[in-house]
Amino acid sequence: MQKITRCMAVNKRIALVAHDHMKSDLIAWSKARADILQKHHLFGTGTTATLLTKHVELPVKALFSGPMGGDQQLGAMIAEGEIDMMIFFWDPMNAVPHDPDVKALLRLAAVWNIPVATNPATADFIIDSIHTSSKYEHEIPDYEGYLAERTSEL
Ligand code: PGA
Repeated sequence: MQKITRCMAVNKRIALVAHDHMKSDLIAWSKARADILQKHHLFGTGTTATLLTKHVELPVKALFSGPMGGDQQLGAMIAEGEIDMMIFFWDPMNAVPHDPDVKALLRLAAVWNIPVATNPATADFIIDSIHTSSKYEHEIPDYEGYLAERTSEL
């Protein structure tokens, strides 16, 4: 697929999500990194966002709770270019009812080439990256070209 370049602003739009058994890990990580997180625009699935606002006092815009559509909302935001990176502590040890939504969210993050951290160590690497504190150009699919190619022969 052809690519185009998109530039992320200095202040990133960060999605924060944690499955139930991972929420305490995300709260602890966010507390430790609150000084950096508060410089960015934060979004999260309903329960995660509400807990982060309550325990870390970070302004996290709450979408729907994950099993009620929040993962799908985030996926749509990624496709629309409204999320720059995602911290998603998904649970590798327990099944969740909305597994298809989780898979779809991770898939869209891969399609649109945004950085994703799935555990605290990766989240540390991402949040401390020079790219998080400066403008960053990344390649994304050329959607106009993709559509033109698909429709040209029909
Ligand atoms: P929650 O959703 O923050 O509402 O718990 C997270 C998820 O399971 O996707």
